[in-house]
Amino acid sequence: MSVNVGAHTSIAGGAYNAVDEQVEIGGTCGQIFSHSPQVWQDPNIDEEEAATFRDRTADHDIGPWVIHSSYLVNLCTPKDDLREKSIDSMQKEVDAAAALDIDYVNVHLGAHTGAGVEQGLANAVSALDELDVPESVTVLVESDAGSGTKLGDEFEHLSTVLAESEQELGVCLDTAHVFAAGYDLSTPDAVDDTVAAFDDVVGLEHLHCLHLNDSKHDCGTNKDEHAHVGEGLIGEAGMERIINHPDLRDLPFVLETPTEDGKSFAWNVERVRELRT
Ligand SMILES: [Zn+2]
Ligand SMILES: [Zn+2]
Repeated sequence: MSVNVGAHTSIAGGAYNAVDEQVEIGGTCGQIFSHSPQVWQDPNIDEEEAATFRDRTADHDIGPWVIHSSYLVNLCTPKDDLREKSIDSMQKEVDAAAALDIDYVNVHLGAHTGAGVEQGLANAVSALDELDVPESVTVLVESDAGSGTKLGDEFEHLSTVLAESEQELGVCLDTAHVFAAGYDLSTPDAVDDTVAAFDDVVGLEHLHCLHLNDSKHDCGTNKDEHAHVGEGLIGEAGMERIINHPDLRDLPFVLETPTEDGKSFAWNVERVRELRT
């Protein structure tokens, strides 16, 4: 199978614009926000717009798509009001995914803000269990870089949530986050060790998607800043192994690379294809 790579594209002006942008940059899978991720806002996609999104996705054979949930969502929070807003927001994301015929909704676990790791994870599990997830949609827990009290940086956090939740959850690994969280990916051997560690703790059968980003910060710094593929501290050797690793190569690769230095999503898509052997 040829590499399935795309990017996080914009729905500004209509959800179907994300499909058109995907086609423009040469992507074959992708991710969207269903609304501005920095504010509490409901997805605002009417049925006609959703139908156009579904049609264009089918026409161009794009898939899978992922909806990335709002950055304000905090499933680990001990605060009732934030918890309720987070659950409400997630419910709208999974419903929007069903309307757009999108398979996945991605979410970060959030921060325990003093409640402690164990309580934070328990909060996340009970919040996820309150969702009424449509049959066609799977919620993916995304690995986190682990700054402050954010959880999901350790593979053990992901496995605990998957094991304890009543939902059929999956995992999305973000390579920049995994690296920043302290799992080395900068050499072929390091990639192999990290994939083996993930398989041991979580299980590769739960891994549905990779966010393929290089990192501007070193392994273990807990700093989340993405770099162009092969141009960060994971570097070309690490990225090449990730793209070709037998257990990763058939996953959808979604780019969240920066748009700077004259390097676009199209540049990064092309780079991934070049590194594929
Ligand atoms: Zn994310
Ligand atoms: Zn990500």
